[in-house]
Amino acid sequence: MSKKEIVVSGIRSTGYLHLGNYFGAIQNYVRMQEEHNCYFFVADYHSLTTHPKPEDLKQNVYRVVAENVASGLDPEKVALYAQSDIPEIPELYLMLNMLAYMGELEKVPTFKEKVRMQPDNVNAGLLTYPVLMAADILIHKAVKVPVGKDQEQHLEMARNFAHRFNTRYGTDLFPEPQVYRFNNDTVKIMSLDGNGKMSKSENVNATIYLSDDDDTIRKKIMKAKTDQGPTEPNMEMPDYIRNLFVLMDVSSAPETTATFKAAYNNCNIRYGDMKKQLAEDMAAFVRPIRERAAELQKDEAAIKKILKEGAEKARASSATTIAEARKLIGINYY
Ligand code: ATP
Ligand code: MG
Repeated sequence: MSKKEIVVSGIRSTGYLHLGNYFGAIQNYVRMQEEHNCYFFVADYHSLTTHPKPEDLKQNVYRVVAENVASGLDPEKVALYAQSDIPEIPELYLMLNMLAYMGELEKVPTFKEKVRMQPDNVNAGLLTYPVLMAADILIHKAVKVPVGKDQEQHLEMARNFAHRFNTRYGTDLFPEPQVYRFNNDTVKIMSLDGNGKMSKSENVNATIYLSDDDDTIRKKIMKAKTDQGPTEPNMEMPDYIRNLFVLMDVSSAPETTATFKAAYNNCNIRYGDMKKQLAEDMAAFVRPIRERAAELQKDEAAIKKILKEGAEKARASSATTIAEARKLIGINYY
């Protein structure tokens, strides 16, 4: 086994990937693939909490693979696999469920939020989502997890479960995984209407997807929430304006961003102009990714090969961990 640090991260196959996924996750995956031992997976089991149509699942999984690869992830360098191809993950999930307390799971903000948003489908899978996420990570004994800010609390729970397992069974089997921040910052891309974050399954009209065509991108950006503009020099930016600058930072030339920032600070910014510029730069940024992803998604054989080879790498690592865990628990009969 290589000595590189082990990294795990997943993306749910719940729909089209967006700029939040790109800047919050995939961009960091691509940066990590050279120096780390990376396991990146399509979280298809996690997507089952919302009961996707069976006929949609395959295309959803293929799309996540295609959009990751189109964004620069190299399946030769990382293990890129489907969560459901690794039976050791649900096995570890079962083990960890015995160490997770109802009380701590019920307190998780994302769970409480789901209870509020979908009161008719508060299934046990939603409650134990952080346990499955811990299993995803611990199965490879990962030490670093590049996730967006919205996932930091789940990762803290993964550390708790790792610690609990280690303490109970007198072992150091599981390292406690840490959030990995590239250059020490995690970005969170807000929804363009200022309500919450860009998302695969919510805020779809105010989220820019990697599959959006140029015109759709322009339209969405031109509709982004702004206001009358700053009323005094160097005023603190409201969230929704700062978000436009974050998007500009990642897609426009540095001089362009600097010009608009100066205009903001001098109270003579014209948001219409800023949005026009951002729309063009963002369209140019997304275009090659969209085109590569569309091309790859048509090539079923290539996607299958990626998934198969990824699963082989991931299973090799998972099998070792689960054998050790079974033994520590006392499941050791033959
Ligand atoms: P869903 O709405 O189905 O939960 P999602 O858009 O939240 O989809 P996930 O699959 O839950 O996407 O998350 C994949 C990765 O993308 C995670 O690392 C998460 O932290 C990151 N991420 C998701 N949304 C954003 C966002 N708006 N800004 C930054 N990072 C994000
Ligand atoms: Mg999410």
